Amino acid sequence: MSLKMINIQKYLFFAMMLVFSTISFAQKKQNFVIVIDAGHGGKDVGARGVADLEKNIALDVALRFGNMIEKNHKDVKVVWTRKTDIFLELWERTRISNDNHANLFVSVHCNSATNSSATGTETFVMGLKRSSETDEVSRRENSVVFLEKDQEKYEKFDPNDPEAVIAFEIMNAAYKEQSIRFADLVEKNFVNRDFRKSRGVKQNNFHVLRGNASPSVLVELGFISNYDEGTFLASEDGKQKTAETLYESFKQFKKEFDRRSGIEDEPAPKPVKKVEKPVEGKKLKVKVMESKMKFSATSPQLRGLTDLDVIQEGDNYVYYYGETDLQSRADDLLNTVKRKGFSGAKIVEFETNKRLEGGKNYRVQFMTSNKKYKDRDDKFNGLTNVLRVKEGNLQKYYFGADKTMEAAQKTLKDVQDKGFRNAFIVTFNGEDPL
Ligand SMILES: [Zn+2]
Repeated sequence: MSLKMINIQKYLFFAMMLVFSTISFAQKKQNFVIVIDAGHGGKDVGARGVADLEKNIALDVALRFGNMIEKNHKDVKVVWTRKTDIFLELWERTRISNDNHANLFVSVHCNSATNSSATGTETFVMGLKRSSETDEVSRRENSVVFLEKDQEKYEKFDPNDPEAVIAFEIMNAAYKEQSIRFADLVEKNFVNRDFRKSRGVKQNNFHVLRGNASPSVLVELGFISNYDEGTFLASEDGKQKTAETLYESFKQFKKEFDRRSGIEDEPAPKPVKKVEKPVEGKKLKVKVMESKMKFSATSPQLRGLTDLDVIQEGDNYVYYYGETDLQSRADDLLNTVKRKGFSGAKIVEFETNKRLEGGKNYRVQFMTSNKKYKDRDDKFNGLTNVLRVKEGNLQKYYFGADKTMEAAQKTLKDVQDKGFRNAFIVTFNGEDPL
């Protein structure tokens, strides 16, 4: 063998070493395992909802949830107990979790009740304390064992045997705090992100949670026996929103996990501080949405956004939020609106001092009635020179006539201060609405 050959072999060896070390480095970077367990499956259909079976909704949401994690967290390994419509015994789900050394186990389910008005989400952690209310849920979610071949597996644990209980409590204590933390994030996010009703974080004895050597929760996404919640959870939009909320909760949980493990986020580049110049002669507002409907100030359609400016333009009502002459502040306002679920919202510029051409003007509509009132009527709360416009059977009442948006907004504020909270601006040509 020539010297040259030996050198090549040596280089090859080093090259291979390099490849191997990169691989092991890449593996080491996966520092978190989540096991996502879609409840039920196959012959075990779970609850029967108004629009779909529990096993289908649970699987769909579980797949979306895990895919979001896989896409955005290269350092997380996602394991599903099932990715298709198959029957799995409860102990198998726990075994998959423990074999993969899960850092978090999330079992996804839907609730059901004979009372069709029952609604809301709830998230369970393992515990032996019972309340009769949660007993029904655990009875239902545990009942699958009767479809399983070997029911003795679950009888080994006797909640009335003090020794078994103590052994359980010791094991459970290690994970309980983290289980409750994740459950809490899930329930809070359902309320804050999706405006869902939360029944809270609860504990009960679930077979599928009991044997897990990791923080573990069982999420009930809502009552599919209820018409509204059942159709929501079976819908494309509902499944996507629900999965996003589980994902958001995971993201927060993982961030806390990283902080505890000493893994920090990549340091963010230091912001360069600039003195921001206001946009001159213009105001920035967030256009929230456009609708044929005029919603009242407290309507759920507005998702808790208050102090919206509503401007009628032709047949449409346009809803605007906030006002600023700083671009950065407008970006903040836009984020607020988007977080409320108005994904199509955008920033628009208003030339507040631009005068309307010809006979055009802005008026404030403050009242609609089927009755005719004369000017200075008590109903107007002191507003005078009120313009009445008949439309079909209705009389619409308007106040003011301004040439600029800035002036119209002042008028609107005055009218609202007189008690007409749902007043809004309409563009006119002379005395005719456009
Ligand atoms: Zn279930």
